[in-house]
Amino acid sequence: MHGTEESLEQKTFAQLRPLKVSSEILAVAICLLVVTLASASQAISPWLYGYCAAAGVACYLTFRARTTWHLWLTGLLLLCTCSACLGALANAIGNPLVWFLPIGLVLSLPSSAMHVHPAHALSTGIAIWGTLFYVISPEFERPLDHALTLILIVASLLVATLVCATFCRIRKDVFDLQRQLHGMAYTDTLTGLPNRRAFMERLTTTLAGRAVPVPLFFLMLDIDDFKKINDGFGHDVGDRVLVEVGRQLQDHSQGHNFARVGGEEFAIAAQLPDVAAAQALARSLVDAVHSSQLYGLTLSISVGLARLEPGESMVSLMRRADLALYDAKSEGKNRYVMAQQVVLSV
Ligand code: GH3
Ligand code: MG
Ligand code: MG
Repeated sequence: MHGTEESLEQKTFAQLRPLKVSSEILAVAICLLVVTLASASQAISPWLYGYCAAAGVACYLTFRARTTWHLWLTGLLLLCTCSACLGALANAIGNPLVWFLPIGLVLSLPSSAMHVHPAHALSTGIAIWGTLFYVISPEFERPLDHALTLILIVASLLVATLVCATFCRIRKDVFDLQRQLHGMAYTDTLTGLPNRRAFMERLTTTLAGRAVPVPLFFLMLDIDDFKKINDGFGHDVGDRVLVEVGRQLQDHSQGHNFARVGGEEFAIAAQLPDVAAAQALARSLVDAVHSSQLYGLTLSISVGLARLEPGESMVSLMRRADLALYDAKSEGKNRYVMAQQVVLSV
């Protein structure tokens, strides 16, 4: 698989963390604002600022989170702290029953989409309502008020769980679709091998990450007289030969960067200790195809082999391998030819 692929967990984390951090900064700012406004009109316990500070710490921990599990824990801490702060403020201003439901709903519902699992949304909702019950201890005069409040709380928990489950499913669907598109973009449809794009990206990554300059060899491989197979046996047989030769070549490519880069052309980029190792690789590929009797046909390939010279561009390297491939063809095919050394213009 292509190197840039990340798991659903990593992708979800990367999407949710900035969203959580910004919404938590907003929550801390709102708590600070309402506590400050209330303190302007009446004496407020300084503990309320303590809650704001604790929420700020939770927000910072979200910023430092490394997994979705951390995000859930720090979010839980922040929402419980905000619930405690706003609940205590409602108590302080004297009408907690009016604020009990709005505070719980505002804190539990919007956050429900920002969880990676419905159980996280449900547990966070329960923690928010639990904190509010603990801080406010609501005592309803009429049993109906009590019953309606409980029904609304249960409904809010169900809605939060449902919203979270829906967002999780959407995220999973988008992720699967992206993987599918990625696979299509980097895979050759006929052979299932990596395609030119995958090859070039992997090569660029290899070149960028070469701390120690191990020699890099580029091999251009081309099936000999492939047109004759198409003309003599039909394109469907030609296709099956391509698949089989591709599989053979991949099996013998020793895990190096390998791809089908064109019609009946393949390429390998290999970091090898010396020219002898690269020649051995080229020879083993030529021999492997020639000794295989695919569909009763005698097949062969020609290979152009070039070594990346210091300061040489990829274009130049590939061009030299191409020229060596032409030489292999004109010298009789079923062989490899080492490219001429590059002449760098100054
Ligand atoms: P040489 O030995 O010089 O390489 O000759 P060749 O016949 O292999 O090369 P040429 O370039 O003349 O022909 C390549 C053929 O490959 C032409 C094209 O129709 C065929 N081809 C390209 N892609 C496919 C494919 O996906 N399937 C099939 N069946 N044929 C393909
Ligand atoms: Mg060709
Ligand atoms: Mg050919």
